[in-house]
Amino acid sequence: MIKATALGVNGAFTKYYHNNFVFELGSRKLLVDAGTTLRYSLYEGGFKETDITDIFITHLHSDHGGGLEEFAQKCKWIYDHKPNLWVRFDMIDELYEVIEKGLCTDGLTINDYFTVGILGSFKGVGEFNIESHRIKFIETDNMHCEGMTSTALKFYDLNGYNVIYSSDIKNLKDSGLIEHVNDSTKGIFQDCSLIPNNVHSTVEEVIEYYGEQNKNKIYAMHYQDDVDAREADDKYGIRFMIRGHVTF
Ligand SMILES: [Zn+2]
Repeated sequence: MIKATALGVNGAFTKYYHNNFVFELGSRKLLVDAGTTLRYSLYEGGFKETDITDIFITHLHSDHGGGLEEFAQKCKWIYDHKPNLWVRFDMIDELYEVIEKGLCTDGLTINDYFTVGILGSFKGVGEFNIESHRIKFIETDNMHCEGMTSTALKFYDLNGYNVIYSSDIKNLKDSGLIEHVNDSTKGIFQDCSLIPNNVHSTVEEVIEYYGEQNKNKIYAMHYQDDVDAREADDKYGIRFMIRGHVTF
């Protein structure tokens, strides 16, 4: 079983909460992205810092990584809690550059805040495990923005069912994500813009890319504040994720 909780479903400039998720995998809880609104959205989603055992940051826009330093500070200094931080080998330098100025004072290193798991890939795809759950990461560098390292995820439950999480992608056609969709895919969390956008897929691009046969698997996320999710469901025939959870 995979339980996916959306702490927020809106874009970078939202007045609500950023598109960050918690995936519950057995007894562990993986935070996928830590935007600057995490300080509120985590609690409203029903979690506290010490619940989070694992963290993966898909890319370094502030709505995905801007809350990580504060999260780390609170874990260490208030809760004495040291979660696992999973990082692609070729993203370590840029992730550290963003967070270490604030964290690495008084002789401290990133390893004082996190147990760092460094991930290597072969041809842009790699894997790691959380308890018995397998998580594949799929490199989507330059497909969200030119010059940005970014990563999509594929979660497997113990029965082999899988859930795909795109994070932010504009250039879906080159992402290869469709090759990861199969009969065992129960959900596709996909960023989806209802207006033309230079860094996110539009809803029309998403539907065309995954095809009519996969529309019932799509959970649109990272959309504009003024979108009424239920109206958008009816209009486009895919589900627009709202804050809360889905269990697969
Ligand atoms: Zn982004």
